[in-house]
Amino acid sequence: MNAGNHFDHQFYLAADPFFRSMGSHALTYDDVSLATEYSEVLPKETHLEMQLSDQIRLSIPIISADMDTVTEASMAIAMALAGGLGLIHYNLPPQEQIRQVSRVKHFVHGLIQDPVTVRPDQTIGEIYSFLQEKRYSFNSFPVVNQQNELLGLLSGNAVKMRYASKLVHEVMIPREAVATILLSELGKNPIQKAQEYFENNWQTSKLAVIDNHNHLKGLFTRKDTEAILEEAHAELKPCRDKDFRLVCGAALSIPRKSHGALDTDTLGAHVEALLHAGLDVAALSSAHAHTKSMGEALRFLKKQFPSLTLIAGNVTSGEGVEYLADAGADAIKIGQGPGSICTTRIVAGVGIPQLTALYIATQAAKNKNVRILADGGISKSGDIVKALTLADGVICGGLLASSPEAPGQIFEIDGKRYKQYRGMGSLEAMKAGSAARYGHDVNDRSRKTTAEGIEALKEVNEPVSQVLSRLIGGVQSGMGYIGAHNLQELKTKARYVRVSPAGLKESNPHDVIEINTKRS
Ligand code: IMP
Repeated sequence: MNAGNHFDHQFYLAADPFFRSMGSHALTYDDVSLATEYSEVLPKETHLEMQLSDQIRLSIPIISADMDTVTEASMAIAMALAGGLGLIHYNLPPQEQIRQVSRVKHFVHGLIQDPVTVRPDQTIGEIYSFLQEKRYSFNSFPVVNQQNELLGLLSGNAVKMRYASKLVHEVMIPREAVATILLSELGKNPIQKAQEYFENNWQTSKLAVIDNHNHLKGLFTRKDTEAILEEAHAELKPCRDKDFRLVCGAALSIPRKSHGALDTDTLGAHVEALLHAGLDVAALSSAHAHTKSMGEALRFLKKQFPSLTLIAGNVTSGEGVEYLADAGADAIKIGQGPGSICTTRIVAGVGIPQLTALYIATQAAKNKNVRILADGGISKSGDIVKALTLADGVICGGLLASSPEAPGQIFEIDGKRYKQYRGMGSLEAMKAGSAARYGHDVNDRSRKTTAEGIEALKEVNEPVSQVLSRLIGGVQSGMGYIGAHNLQELKTKARYVRVSPAGLKESNPHDVIEINTKRS
């Protein structure tokens, strides 16, 4: 180390001296900035893999929140395809949650699993009107009978008003001329298999997937297949299990009997069914997880299902981390009050600004085989870089809630498209099931339930793949500046400075009129 370097290190401090020098002055993302360091690392050469548990490795350290306006099957699929993980929320009837997990586990990239089909005795006129009404962007359909056996393919060329009186079977491409592939032949990389087929059969643009009894199981289209292979995030490795299925997580509520004891029968049976559907990760989420009931539930699950990865939270104290780790958690969510829709700190007066909470948590996690997840308050890629100097991964709600893959209706106000985003502790979400997460019983009319979250709107934005690829790009830039090849090096190399309000103003664009406000 040369003299200049030594001088730098008196002012740009590593995590230990930096956070200790702050005493009980708690800090969050915008309160600090990271110092740049000598680097031989190009952003694109950085590695973002993260070990969530002994069994699960993610290609990117980003998880979508178990919230009812963030993660259902479509979000979980998009997250896993990009190399992350989605946690399907629990404001759903148990059977429906199992169905959602099953959808993720049966998803085949590029395969339309429930293609819109037509019957041979329908008229072209009927189909034409149906298409006009639905405004689908496609116009060819597999033709099937009541048993879902493939009979042919109705090409878009035949769906014209002038053929209105004709019947589908008169104009369809007959079964013998339809390109098909057996489901069992798709192998471990179905999209590549479909691509190979299309490359060897240039005249074909649709490939129907069937089982051994000619039942329709799905449809590949040349257009979708090519688009997927050209997607920007193609270099991100999807997160898959040993059977090549996408990895999926789900949140669990903690059922109680009338006298308050943990209802192990109900919890055990639900987890059993989720595992049967292929679940890889379960999350136990409570606004305050350093509690007896959380400890009991974790110990029960760890004993019954030792190979299931368990995420638990939320806590912000070292003791809380140790407690959850000892009870069986593989990863612990840190965050009380940072969420973009959260009012816990205002309503209850508790919670710790996120970076300090993460520092405390990582100290406690050092001697335990447990990972730390920064949950909530992340609004830009720079926050993720700062979080990952301490934590192993991040959980995002608001950043993903505006994507089309998030659950919920899209509606228009003054020509702009919006989706709802609400806290799981908002009154409406608690009524839909999440009250226990906040220690409330909304059916108990003798007590007033106080919300700890708000209901909000997000303007509908880019698909998840694009949001993640922008975020990842930002994280890789940060790692390049710090000279970190991987997340472990990011932790050891990070040096912090405190930012003043004027410094924060300087960090953002200033003294200009911005014309493109899209940022990471
Ligand atoms: P965001 O990414 O800043 O929007 O925060 C998402 C995180 O906020 C979630 O993962 C939860 O930990 C937390 N959260 C969700 N709903 C509520 C709520 O109603 N009150 C407080 N925190 C919440």
